[in-house]
Amino acid sequence: MDCIFCKIIEGTIPSKKVFENERILAFHDIQPQAPVHTLIIPKKHIPTMNDVTGEDDAVMAEIFAVARQIAKEQGVAESGYRLVNNCNSDGGQVVYHLHFHLLGGEKLKPLG
Ligand code: 5GP
Ligand code: ZN
Repeated sequence: MDCIFCKIIEGTIPSKKVFENERILAFHDIQPQAPVHTLIIPKKHIPTMNDVTGEDDAVMAEIFAVARQIAKEQGVAESGYRLVNNCNSDGGQVVYHLHFHLLGGEKLKPLG
């Protein structure tokens, strides 16, 4: 499958991993937008947030648990962070494999 994140999961494209289990992978974004910029993805190829179904409830809950753990490990849990999903064109999605950006380590610009 021609998906960059599936290739990262397979290991054919290298990444700096921060967490991995059978269902989830987290790794450093290649073009960090903040001092902490980690991507958290399900290993299952789900293209966008719109494609998440009830079958994915457990992995979605686990992604949020992993995000909380990574925020602690990377030292931003107390200072604060942002967990972001970009969906489709207007949302600014570029890679069509579901992912959450965990951003922190500095005062982030307000969204609005
Ligand atoms: P999107 O705009 O789809 O929400 O975000 C995709 C993110 O994936 C971007 O922040 C981009 O820097 C990151 N990215 C794209 N290709 C690679 C890659 O090959 N390796 C890593 N680590 N990140 C990537
Ligand atoms: Zn994929």
